[in-house]
Amino acid sequence: MIRSYFILSLLLVSLYVAGQSYVPVKADSRFKIKPEIPVKAYAFNLGDVKLTESSPFKHAMDLDAAYLLKLEPDRLLHRFHKNAGLPVKGEIYGGWESEGLSGHSLGHYLSAVSMYYASTGNLVFKKRADYIVDELARCQEARKTGYVGAIPNEDSIFGNVAKGIIKSGGFDLNGGWSPWYTVHKVMSGLVDAYLYAGNQHALEVVIRMADWVQHTVGNLTEEQRLKMLNCEYGGMNDVLANIYAITGNNKYLDLSRKFNDEFVMGQLAKKIDPMPGKHSNTNVPKAIGAARCFELTGIEKDKIIATFFWKTMVHHHSYVIGGNSSYEYCGEPGKLSDRLSDNTCETCNTYNMLKLTRHLFSWQPTQEKADYYERALYNHILASQNPEDGMMCYFVPLRMGTHKQFSDEFNTFTCCVGTGMENHVKYAESIYYEADDGGLYLNLFIPSILNWREKGVTIEQQTTFPESGHTRLKFSMNSPVKLVVSQKVCNMFFF
Ligand SMILES: [Zn+2]
Repeated sequence: MIRSYFILSLLLVSLYVAGQSYVPVKADSRFKIKPEIPVKAYAFNLGDVKLTESSPFKHAMDLDAAYLLKLEPDRLLHRFHKNAGLPVKGEIYGGWESEGLSGHSLGHYLSAVSMYYASTGNLVFKKRADYIVDELARCQEARKTGYVGAIPNEDSIFGNVAKGIIKSGGFDLNGGWSPWYTVHKVMSGLVDAYLYAGNQHALEVVIRMADWVQHTVGNLTEEQRLKMLNCEYGGMNDVLANIYAITGNNKYLDLSRKFNDEFVMGQLAKKIDPMPGKHSNTNVPKAIGAARCFELTGIEKDKIIATFFWKTMVHHHSYVIGGNSSYEYCGEPGKLSDRLSDNTCETCNTYNMLKLTRHLFSWQPTQEKADYYERALYNHILASQNPEDGMMCYFVPLRMGTHKQFSDEFNTFTCCVGTGMENHVKYAESIYYEADDGGLYLNLFIPSILNWREKGVTIEQQTTFPESGHTRLKFSMNSPVKLVVSQKVCNMFFF
């Protein structure tokens, strides 16, 4: 065994390049459809990167895991059972779970426990994911339509959509509160249970849901479809594109495109900034879906939508911490100094911007994207969690003299509690990336151990960044390899 040690002395900001996207992962047999475009940076599986002790990131992950265990799946399932006509098994939680957005938290929870299991192998979390999938399948069976959900009046809301009866506004569709937003979260949770927790049953359930989506929107006229999309619809295009990639069935790609609007995505395709006055988090997921579709189809329009949106948001609508929006809305581009309010930087927006950044990095790894990712991860995402009890911020406020307001464990469920459950269990996903030419990108200075199976190399990173300006990398190799370090982009190439 050969061991190499070296210290990279870094000038804090300028040396390293960043990350990529968790999809695609190299040689990933879970996806029948491979990227149509050249992938230049591949993600590692969550299980191949372990956070090590004594970092704020590991601390945040541990607190999040403890919170996930405090939550009771049966309480999150309350309205799923009720709406399916089955006996409830637990009391409903407070906040938006008791209101019109109920069910979205379960989707995030399913994603979070699945990712935590993938990261750590802790079977307690897999059992939680498996239990929820089984219960959702039971609800789906009872309803007999393929749908499973927890939204008040959902049969009426979607039944009318299917008939072409559509009343819609910013957050209202036929009297429901952004119902497609919640459907997206549940479907994403199921896809994540399949991808991260290896639950095959979850894939079967979500495919039945996708078929129900087809039944619901498949016969809408163009006018009806676009009217429906006036109401926030989350990342429906993204999750359906992923179901296409997993199954190889073209109908899900076609269905994904049913969730592309004109009033934002059409503008982006023409390289016009549509965001002034727009609700930020309604629109970031649309660009993620476009990015995923570009990977799977190579269609240039999707690339323009995703990349123009990213540049517009990062360079014209983002504050210094990498977040965007004041009271959830974007203002005039480049005019942020008079919008430093108590309610800047909704945390969901940055959760989604980081997802988008990872896709774009995988196509073209650049320091610009890496720097944004690092800035937003350290200064917004990490800062959105209370380091004492693991609770989350909806906003990270930038007004002078203001203070953060954190969620309550069981009574203030919001969108940002949902994304917050996921944020802190997946820090391992963007520290390292594998370059298409056999090199390695080191993107984030987070104490961790990478098991690079393909190369037979283990890399342990020790750092106290940002308190110190250096990181130490310890290489353990099964057999001798030649190591070349590229100073230019801080790659490490193995031959
Ligand atoms: Zn939010």
